[in-house]
Amino acid sequence: MKKILIGTHNKGKFKEIAYLISRKFKKVSPISLRIKSPKETGTSFISNSKLKVKFFSKHVDYDAISDDSGLCIKALKNRPGIYSARLAKKHGSFHKAMKFILKKMKNKKNRNAVFVCSLSYKKKNSKIISAVGKLKGKISYRILGKKGFGYDPIFIPLKSKFTFGQMQKNKKVKMDHRFLAFQKLKKKIKIL
Ligand code: IMP
Repeated sequence: MKKILIGTHNKGKFKEIAYLISRKFKKVSPISLRIKSPKETGTSFISNSKLKVKFFSKHVDYDAISDDSGLCIKALKNRPGIYSARLAKKHGSFHKAMKFILKKMKNKKNRNAVFVCSLSYKKKNSKIISAVGKLKGKISYRILGKKGFGYDPIFIPLKSKFTFGQMQKNKKVKMDHRFLAFQKLKKKIKIL
C-alpha cells in the first residue's frame, strides 16, 4: 500500500486531512515516527505550508502533505491569521484564546472572518504543489459547541446558524477551508 505522511501534530487537522485523502494511501503521522514540527518562519499560509512539507518530506521516502491554516478576523486586522496556533499557546489554551478574541470583538459591529488553509503536497524528488482554500463566516458572540477543534466553537460559516463546534464532524469536513483547498489540490494531483 502507498504511504503518505500527513505533516501535522494537530490531531484535529490530521483526522480531517486523512478523511479527504484516497483510501488507497496509508496515512502516517509524524507523531508515530517521532518527527518534530519545524519552526513556522514564513510570513504567509502558503510559505508556512511549503516549509512544513519540505521539512517532513525529508524524513520519509514517500509522499508528504502539510497544511498551514488559521482564522483571519476582519475587525482585528486579519489576526490571529498565521499566528492562530501561537495565540492559543500564548494564552495557555484554545478556550482562553477564544475568550480573548470575544473580548476584543465585544464592541465590533463587523464580525466577518475567514478560515484559510494552504495545503502543500510533495512527491519524493518532485516540486511542491500548493492550493489555498478560504471559507467565509462570522465570529459568534459566545463559545458554542464542543465538537471539532481549535477555534471551531466561535466560527459560524456563512449560510449556517451554528458554529463549527456545534456541527457534526462529517458535515464540517465536507465544507471547510481544508476541504476547499483539497478540492483544488486534487485537480492538480489526480492520485490524491
Ligand atoms: P498551524 O497551521 O499549525 O499554524 O495552526 C493553525 C491554527 O489554526 C491551529 O491552532 C488550529 O487549531 C487553528 N485552525 C486551523 N484550522 C482550523 C479549523 O478547521 N478549526 C478550528 N481551528 C482551526
